[in-house]
Amino acid sequence: MSEAAARQRSGMQLHTKILLGLLIGAAVGLAANLTVGGDNRVVQGVNHYLADPVGQIFLRLLFMIVIPLVFASIALGVAGLGDLRRVGRVGGKAIGYFLVTTALAAVVGLVLVHIVEPGTHIPQATRAHLLTTYAGDAATKIQAATTGKLGVQTIVNIVTRNPVKSAVDLDLLGLIFFSLMFGTALTMIPAERAKPMLAWLEALNDIVIKIVDIAMELAPYGVAGLIFGVTSRFGFALAIPLGNYILVVLAGLLIHALVTIALIVRFAIGMSPVDFFNRIRASIITAFSTSSSSATLPTNLAVAEQNLGVPMSIAGFVLPIGSTMCMNGTALYEGITVIFLAQTFGVTLTLSQMIVIIVMAVITAVGAAGVPGGSLPLLVGILAMFGVPAEGIAIILGVDRILDMSRTTLNVIGDMSATTWVARSEKVWTPAQLPAIETVVRGAVLDESPGWPRPPEGGEALERAGKERE
Ligand code: ASP
Repeated sequence: MSEAAARQRSGMQLHTKILLGLLIGAAVGLAANLTVGGDNRVVQGVNHYLADPVGQIFLRLLFMIVIPLVFASIALGVAGLGDLRRVGRVGGKAIGYFLVTTALAAVVGLVLVHIVEPGTHIPQATRAHLLTTYAGDAATKIQAATTGKLGVQTIVNIVTRNPVKSAVDLDLLGLIFFSLMFGTALTMIPAERAKPMLAWLEALNDIVIKIVDIAMELAPYGVAGLIFGVTSRFGFALAIPLGNYILVVLAGLLIHALVTIALIVRFAIGMSPVDFFNRIRASIITAFSTSSSSATLPTNLAVAEQNLGVPMSIAGFVLPIGSTMCMNGTALYEGITVIFLAQTFGVTLTLSQMIVIIVMAVITAVGAAGVPGGSLPLLVGILAMFGVPAEGIAIILGVDRILDMSRTTLNVIGDMSATTWVARSEKVWTPAQLPAIETVVRGAVLDESPGWPRPPEGGEALERAGKERE
């Protein structure tokens, strides 16, 4: 069995376990709530001594890596942008496309979550209970974190005086600013000198992602504990808002794919959207089943060349970078989730706070790794920044898998449209170059497929693409 297949298998097994943990925790919690009630002493004891601690440990493992992850991924992201800049105009276009479509996706999500307001239909009594149980002083924290008006001082405050203090206070904007500066400066010093720091950051990034993997091993139990805590206390009261939240995320992803991206495909790329989606079907299937943009990269490269006829000189570097930087679905999901939880805890956000959320969603989507659940630690960071209690996150973590599969699909659709658009605008590709539809590969294109060596990651791919272009 190939490494990829092995990874996928163990991924499936883990996620089946998480789902089981969710179902068992929810069923036992609901049964307890409906029979003896959440205030029963035994139920309270189970929550206090078992369910809450297990859930907390799982969440703390995720919180633990927020700071190093934000720093490493953002600094590396900017350093990567430096590489892209070196590839010149094409790199600039790719970055522009990534940022604009990601921001549009976040806006679609925010508009939708405002219209539907999935988190507001919670009975007043339940909300009060939620706050007293979980929030502690969170409600005041939320207010404190979010009532400030966007003024000169907000901007000045982003330029942190002390990155270590920003890290301690979970002042993500300050930390992100420092990381951006760090990454930028890294691209400005001689390559020789920058090399060890880049290697160090890459290792740090890999290490924290490994910690996510370890935490995920605990996830089936953590999720069971967390969901038991929620259902034993609240019964069905939160089920409907949660269901609505899932529907809003799925609807947002669909709208962005079928309206925003379809319009770009029609008018900026000049292809029929139906034909486009049909041709990239193998990428869509792979993204949906692996929940990982990075794991979908080999398929994307094959599809770009074989099914869309995009030259490798473009696809070979837009796709590898896009697989970690272009995350339309992730930004949309993060925006909706932050607002949903704010609504759940009864917080109204002002327009300027929305703008901060859009900016945060875009930056963290760019920084998220293209692996299953890659955006979760960053999302946890944003939520903490807005003072949303950890258990609020628990409510949504339990249902994350299906949302992960779906947002990854949109991330990959974004990558493919980016590549095609860049090729078109560079005049190295027109719709006339589309291969005959009979030759199009529709199923999953595996990374073992002949003639498709696994592409080197990041820098190497860039170098190669740059050479090819010369
Ligand atoms: N799983 C996503 C991806 O690979 C990242 C995320 O968690 O949003 O694109």
